[in-house]
Amino acid sequence: MSESVKIENRGKVKITPSGSIFFIIHLLPLLVFVPGLTGGAGVTVFDWGICIFLYFLRMYFVTGIYHRYFSHRTYKTSRWFQFVLAFCAQTTIQKGVLWWAAHHRIHHKTSDTPADPHSMKLYGFWYSHIGWFLGPDYNETHFEGIKDYAKFPELIWLNKWHWVPPLLLGVFMLFLGAKVNGGDWFAFSAGWSTLLIGFFLSTAFLFHGTYTINSLTHYFGKARYETGDESKNNLILALITMGEGWHNNHHYYPSSTRQGFFWWEIDPTFYITKMLAFVGLVWDVQEVPHHIKHSKNIKEAMELRRIAIEKKAA
Ligand SMILES: [Zn+2]
Ligand SMILES: [Zn+2]
Repeated sequence: MSESVKIENRGKVKITPSGSIFFIIHLLPLLVFVPGLTGGAGVTVFDWGICIFLYFLRMYFVTGIYHRYFSHRTYKTSRWFQFVLAFCAQTTIQKGVLWWAAHHRIHHKTSDTPADPHSMKLYGFWYSHIGWFLGPDYNETHFEGIKDYAKFPELIWLNKWHWVPPLLLGVFMLFLGAKVNGGDWFAFSAGWSTLLIGFFLSTAFLFHGTYTINSLTHYFGKARYETGDESKNNLILALITMGEGWHNNHHYYPSSTRQGFFWWEIDPTFYITKMLAFVGLVWDVQEVPHHIKHSKNIKEAMELRRIAIEKKAA
């Protein structure tokens, strides 16, 4: 499909057969209301605990891995741990790491212009929130934009078989629920509720938490920096996305691991990544340079940097 056709079609939400899985995942938790399915125990406190735990754990996987590692290379790690990270990220059912990161890089290059895959300003809320990836326009991995990671055959493999990690996590949740709710690893009737509420409901919430960054953070909030796009900083969105709501900061300086530039801008993804660095699993975690943090635009940042260098030399 040519770029011009794609652009003409933008804003219209079309759903491919694989895109319909997205809606099925929203409906699956309703199966807990089917009489007899959950073995009489119904939904347990454990199931709700897993739902909350898997939401936040996997929000970290989205923000710390798909976004701050694969899309922006803001920290480094070993090849084996890179594979572990990629596997974890893909348990979120947001497709392969190469697919995710390549499209996100296009977003930064073309933000709020017609070539942006998900500009809320140009294509409206629904298209920027879910329409862009549910339809045929962005189904394929844009390998040209992710050559740096596409050189690893294990990542190509995982990107192709992107549904394997969520399948394994889902099956594990069924067994775990059977054990905790039913007292036996094979008491499946007690495990369905863990799968439906703990896994699928948290996945549906995680979809929308993640996608607010593509839609709402380009509309609601304040812009501290002049970035030439509509990106905003928003505390509420930072809380539900573990630090991604500081989106104007991020568009201004995407190479920093830290997106909450000031101490009051809460950024749990950054704190967790620092902990991973502390135990030696990752390294070269990037902070925000002083001249970036305290400027309004790149011109002013360069001036602040020049002054600082001159002061040092004097
Ligand atoms: Zn980004
Ligand atoms: Zn953005």
